[in-house]
Amino acid sequence: MTTVIDGKAVAADVVAKVRVAADELIASTGVTPGIAVVIVGQDPASQVYVSSKGKKAKECGFHSVEHALPAETTESDLVALIQKLNADPAIHGILVQLPLPDHIDAGRIIQTISADKDVDGFHFTNVGKLGTGELDTAFVPCTPAGSMLLIERAIGRDLSGLNAVVVGRSNIVGKPMANLLLNANATVTVAHSRTKDLPALCRTADILVAAVGRPEMIKGDWVKPGATVIDVGINRLDGGANGKSKLVGDVDYAGAAEQAGAITPVPGGVGPMTIALLMANTVASAYRTAGKSAPRF
Ligand code: NAP
Repeated sequence: MTTVIDGKAVAADVVAKVRVAADELIASTGVTPGIAVVIVGQDPASQVYVSSKGKKAKECGFHSVEHALPAETTESDLVALIQKLNADPAIHGILVQLPLPDHIDAGRIIQTISADKDVDGFHFTNVGKLGTGELDTAFVPCTPAGSMLLIERAIGRDLSGLNAVVVGRSNIVGKPMANLLLNANATVTVAHSRTKDLPALCRTADILVAAVGRPEMIKGDWVKPGATVIDVGINRLDGGANGKSKLVGDVDYAGAAEQAGAITPVPGGVGPMTIALLMANTVASAYRTAGKSAPRF
């Protein structure tokens, strides 16, 4: 029997704990966790993400500000805004919604965010801390951190003796995911578009993480019986109900669920975890600023 990993329920649990942690911090220090979300331009998907981050922040009891800037905003104006937020003691987390318009160097913007407020975990300092196992003070990127929490809840925190295969090597998902798994003592292989015989490699995985961006690429017979399958993919296809599009992951869910010991669905798996971990990173940042050790979720 496969266990379907309920990301919505785990995310709701994390958000509830963040709320408690925020309330405790406010009561004991007077510090309210603060998050600033910056969006440049009118991309509809980005606007939806930004508004749901703002709503979730309010649900967590945070001070939340949104800066919606026009598409023609210059790179230097955006840098100036980030520097202002870096210096603002009411703000503990800064998130710049990606993608940015082409005329802005996203890399420069990300590195302008103070590493201490980089709740997305993309600053080189946080990437380095994750790479060297300094997890107590790092901000870990939210999607892999959320995926890791789902693995922890499904099979435990110590992954000694287990083989993990991560399909995808992006800086925001695949690489940090691999580091987290390694840190939890799994034996990790990272696969990508140049990997030979991916099906055979996937069949060695006790933990299989798919972060590819190709709808249902990973088939049921690539999954080792009993494996834990984490599907990070979010792909929008035609053919949903009422003429709408439907969401599918990078894993052929029906086929993989026949083999897996535990599997995340799409939607309702990794997706809700990302925003929950953003809230967790923000409250952790506020705790650190107040000189307290950050709660674990
Ligand atoms: P990305 O930057 O496009 O990276 C995709 C990775 O997949 C690359 O490393 C690429 O290899 C590899 N790949 C592509 N085709 C492959 C193939 N045929 N065989 C093996 N590997 C292949 O994507 P991403 O940003 O990591 O996102 C991955 C997926 O996760 C997407 O569906 C995205 O929508 C989803 N996502 C979800 C969340 C969430 O909140 N749940 C957050 C972020 C992303 P190369 O490096 O060799 O090109």
